[in-house]
Amino acid sequence: MRKLSKVALRRPPTSEEQLAAMRMLVRDTAADRPGVYRMIAGDGEVVYVGKSKRLRTRLLSYFRCAFPEEKGARIVREAERIEWEYMPSEFAALLQELRLIKRFRPRFNVAMKRDGRNYCFIKITKAPAPKLVVVRGPGQDDSAVYYGPFLGAMGVSDAVRELNDVLGLRDCAIDQRMHFADQPELFDAFPRTPGCIRYEVHKCLGPCVGGCSVQQYDERLALARAFLDGVDDGPIEVLRRDMEEASERLEYERAAVLRDKLKRLEALRGQFARLRFAVETLSFVYTVPNDDGDDRVYLIRRGRVRAERPRPRTPDDAATLLGLIEDVFAADDRSTGQIPTHEIDELLLLSSWFRRFPAELERTSAAHEIAPLAAAS
Ligand code: SF4
Repeated sequence: MRKLSKVALRRPPTSEEQLAAMRMLVRDTAADRPGVYRMIAGDGEVVYVGKSKRLRTRLLSYFRCAFPEEKGARIVREAERIEWEYMPSEFAALLQELRLIKRFRPRFNVAMKRDGRNYCFIKITKAPAPKLVVVRGPGQDDSAVYYGPFLGAMGVSDAVRELNDVLGLRDCAIDQRMHFADQPELFDAFPRTPGCIRYEVHKCLGPCVGGCSVQQYDERLALARAFLDGVDDGPIEVLRRDMEEASERLEYERAAVLRDKLKRLEALRGQFARLRFAVETLSFVYTVPNDDGDDRVYLIRRGRVRAERPRPRTPDDAATLLGLIEDVFAADDRSTGQIPTHEIDELLLLSSWFRRFPAELERTSAAHEIAPLAAAS
């Protein structure tokens, strides 16, 4: 287990007697089956949530940590009891772990177990003068709009910078005061010189110095959102036209700068196209077997489990499942780069699961192919 020295302990270490009692309970009653567990402090705080394919083995490992600074030792020394529940499969345990982490937000669960790949998102902050920010994942601010995920934060940041420059969107500090042109009573109190080079070189509309109205800024932002949604190539067309005009005027240096910008924006458009493809491919019916016959059927649409049912055993069950599949997959499925904040972690989890275990894709079926499965049950 890795070290986790940053998480401060909030209470005196659990006594040796209590630790021995917890260990004995695990040893005597836990089974080596998939499941999730919660480490709970004396006052009821859930300090850690975990999952394992072999629950008993995992739980016993907490009591074998060689050093007190190890993550496992630190967690178990804040817990006075361990609770666990068995799940029908490792996949089910993974999903349940994510849901419990979201529910309890335990201190020791760092960064919500995100996929280790270099994922990032583009967040659109709230008014006034919203800005595009590249972030690693959703924060606590559920009302923000997110696009993604993307791979390669540096490349995405470069492309977003170009998008900001092309559209004249701001990229300054989030708390920069804004003074739109249609807010004269506010503007009068501030000097017109912004002290920001981006306004001077026409890379920002200057919402901080009355350089544009709220509506003008919102129109540019709408263009950016449409571009990120993949429904509008406006910024690319603007650059292409400028580049051609510069070239006709024999301004080759400027044309070359515009050509490089164009390339970066086209790369960004390409990334969005790949993302839309990735999210769409995470739409199917996934059947997970269980040794005890507790097979589960997961209806996954656009990277999120929309429903879960036991595999049907009777014609009535099969008919019910078919009705559910129809409901889930008939829902409005407009292709867009925007992703609701609360769906991001599950999307990453599913993407990671099927990448780690590509053979699992053989257990999936497109929704329209599921009728024979249900009928045969
Ligand atoms: S001109 Fe004003 S709003 Fe635009 S980036 Fe500079 S400080 Fe921010």
